[in-house]
Amino acid sequence: MRIWIFSGKQVGWWLFTCLTLGIFLGTGGPRDLPVSGGFGQNGISGRTIVIDAGHGGIDPGAVSRGGVLEKDITLAIAKELEYLLKRAAVYVILTRQGDYDLADSSETNLLTRKRQDLDGRVKIAADAKADLYLSIHANYFPSPRWSGAQTFFYEGSSEGQHLAKTLQTELVKELGPNNRLAQPGDFRVLRKAKMPAAMVEVGFLSNPREAELLSQADYQRKVATAIFQGLLRYYRN
Ligand SMILES: [Zn+2]
Repeated sequence: MRIWIFSGKQVGWWLFTCLTLGIFLGTGGPRDLPVSGGFGQNGISGRTIVIDAGHGGIDPGAVSRGGVLEKDITLAIAKELEYLLKRAAVYVILTRQGDYDLADSSETNLLTRKRQDLDGRVKIAADAKADLYLSIHANYFPSPRWSGAQTFFYEGSSEGQHLAKTLQTELVKELGPNNRLAQPGDFRVLRKAKMPAAMVEVGFLSNPREAELLSQADYQRKVATAIFQGLLRYYRN
């Protein structure tokens, strides 16, 4: 039988290695990353964030004149944002990964389907005890002249308002001039979410120039980056 005698320095290194490898913390995924002080120095690492790509399946959302579908734009931006957040050690949950909705497949009433779909999205966030809920949509207006990204929060939610304002500032900074302000909006997902929540309308599909931009991967990445910067700033404050 050999007796191991460790010097203080050796024990220190051993502890360091164990902690780095997550042996003591049982790290199994990004959720359990060994972040000091709760959520890391940046305030966002280790958080659980739900990204909700609006619409999907039989519900395309808004459709541009050129045939750009809102459901495709929202999913593409959600996935870009997921990539950026995961690099910052955020535990990301997408409400959908592909072209489908969350309604009961046997339900034929469209209104009921829509309600089930939206409630299913919020339930994902509730079940995960998410720290934040972010819904991504694109706007549409009968006139083609309006453009620009805009954020919404549920009236009376001061955290939601703070989040939406912070995101709006970064969207304007990153995507160019835009006089729009974060506004209260009575959207079902914002009303039902129990955590800080905001909706980002990434632009107007009714504006031909913006619809074209929104369909481009480079621009989708730019929008995702703006939202990411907004989230970083939100948690830094
Ligand atoms: Zn929408």
